Amino acid sequence: MPELPEVETIRRQLQAELPGLRIEKCKVGLGRLVTHPSPRTYCRNLAGRTIGNICRRGKYLIFELDNHLDLVIHLGMTGSLSLVESPREYPRHTHIVFGLSDGRQLIYVDPRTFGETAVLEHADYSPLRGLASIGPEPLATDFTPERLAAALKGTALIKAALLDQRRIAGLGNIYADEILHRAGINPCRRLNELSPVDIERLHTSIHEVLNEAINGRGSTISDYVDLEGEKGGFQNLLRVYGRSDEGCPVCGERICMMRIAGRSSHYCPSCQK
Ligand SMILES: [Zn+2]
Repeated sequence: MPELPEVETIRRQLQAELPGLRIEKCKVGLGRLVTHPSPRTYCRNLAGRTIGNICRRGKYLIFELDNHLDLVIHLGMTGSLSLVESPREYPRHTHIVFGLSDGRQLIYVDPRTFGETAVLEHADYSPLRGLASIGPEPLATDFTPERLAAALKGTALIKAALLDQRRIAGLGNIYADEILHRAGINPCRRLNELSPVDIERLHTSIHEVLNEAINGRGSTISDYVDLEGEKGGFQNLLRVYGRSDEGCPVCGERICMMRIAGRSSHYCPSCQK
């Protein structure tokens, strides 16, 4: 699933291409991808709108429009966006087509269709539950160690807490595993067992891992591609995710895998006691 670094990579590419262009028309092939309002109203609200800045909250892309509306897109597990000249044939699993004023089309392709999209009043996210309840943005300047500590209250397992979008926005299974390895924290530790030093290390690791992954244009484990159809470059630099039974790049110990909160967790038993 695209996580914060992958969505941020796509956001930067969209921001370089779209602002100032108008959405001439919109065609939805699979209505259930549109969470709000109805697919027909969604298309009507988008037609003729000029695109402003492209923003991101967690794994959500937010296109600011000129009439105080926001177009929101979440790529789910396998969603991707691409900009094409009017094609003779659309890729398989093309579900939404936005016709743009420069003649190109922005197309949304999603084989497994876990993505969602909505048109909302600007900054009123209440119709999209996941976005309305989203936690702090981990790369924002006000995301201090104190804010991280506040987001990690309770007795949950740290790995499960990092995946909870209401606590911290944008992390998924790949980067949660990488962050915990970098911080030297076992994924089974409980939040109330973490010391202030652990929180400090976790805060540093979140910044390092996310920034390095964005610089690498994200990770392609199975099918992630960016706006230009390119795979990410960070998957080769992952230290534990997907590397069970390989040697830890820090200490050489064998990387282990266990299931936590229904997800596979990769960790080094020596670096992450
Ligand atoms: Zn190790």
